[in-house]
Amino acid sequence: MPDDNQQPKDRKTLDDRAKMSELERLRHSCAHVMATAILRLWPDAQFAYGPPVENGFYYDLECAHRITPEDFPAIEAEMKKEIKANHVFERIVVTREQAIADAQSGRLGGLAERPGNASKFKLDLLTQIPDGEPISYFKNGDFLDLCAGPHVMRTGNIGAFKLTTVASAYYKGDEKNPQLQRIYGTAFKNKTALDEYFKMLEEAKRRDHRKIGKEMGLFAIDTEFVGPGMPLWLPKGTVLVEELEKLAKETEFAAGYVRVRTPHLAREKMYKTSGHLPYYAESMFPKMEMDEHRADRQKIEARIAELEKQLSNYEKKIGG
Ligand SMILES: [Zn+2]
Repeated sequence: MPDDNQQPKDRKTLDDRAKMSELERLRHSCAHVMATAILRLWPDAQFAYGPPVENGFYYDLECAHRITPEDFPAIEAEMKKEIKANHVFERIVVTREQAIADAQSGRLGGLAERPGNASKFKLDLLTQIPDGEPISYFKNGDFLDLCAGPHVMRTGNIGAFKLTTVASAYYKGDEKNPQLQRIYGTAFKNKTALDEYFKMLEEAKRRDHRKIGKEMGLFAIDTEFVGPGMPLWLPKGTVLVEELEKLAKETEFAAGYVRVRTPHLAREKMYKTSGHLPYYAESMFPKMEMDEHRADRQKIEARIAELEKQLSNYEKKIGG
């Protein structure tokens, strides 16, 4: 899930939001329903971000109770009640003053006002809404959240859902900010689609190349001496690699391609030109230090120079 570990660094614009697919709306709506359920169990919870992600949704929250997967059945039971109640996701536009007052009273991201427990993340998120952009809430049942939407019409539109994992995440992805609990779930239009998704995950696990590669003796991974994701091809695996290479060459030759060879590494300038460096620096190998033993090298060079001098003096002596 490439999308999951990233925190929304940039706020979604209203345009981005309008482009949300039907499934994303449903999943994001399910995040509101999950928040509703969590608040029924732990009313002190403070919510931050609750976006849809590639395979579902999450909501980041701060809560004195540490939520674990053992809590999922209780949360899911409350969620089912909220879906069964079929509450409308009602959009309410308010002034900034109203929103600030509601956040200060703890009402935003809550089921009721919570004196002494202000909606601190919502207060901060409010400061990120540019002047002139409407400030809106979405309300389902008692749960009132600061949100620009969009949502499905009613909680009952969420056909099937399941909570999946818990993780921790810094608020806005910044380690200087408080560490929050991130609860992940997924949702679908109906139970068939949900079941298919989990079946697909099981299949993927069964077909995981790391598992198969080991079982079939194709390659070995040595994270300690070589590195993660760097296979050492064993004889059987090497046959496969070479056969694939052969096929690629034959196919390319038949299609009239001619092959070239390039070095495996290049200067930083090239990765800047190719456009990789500005976007993928974090997942690229760091710059190679060409002269990490500079001090040692200088010492050795000095010693060699000294010995050469001695040698030439000696040669002069015996020559003359
Ligand atoms: Zn929302």
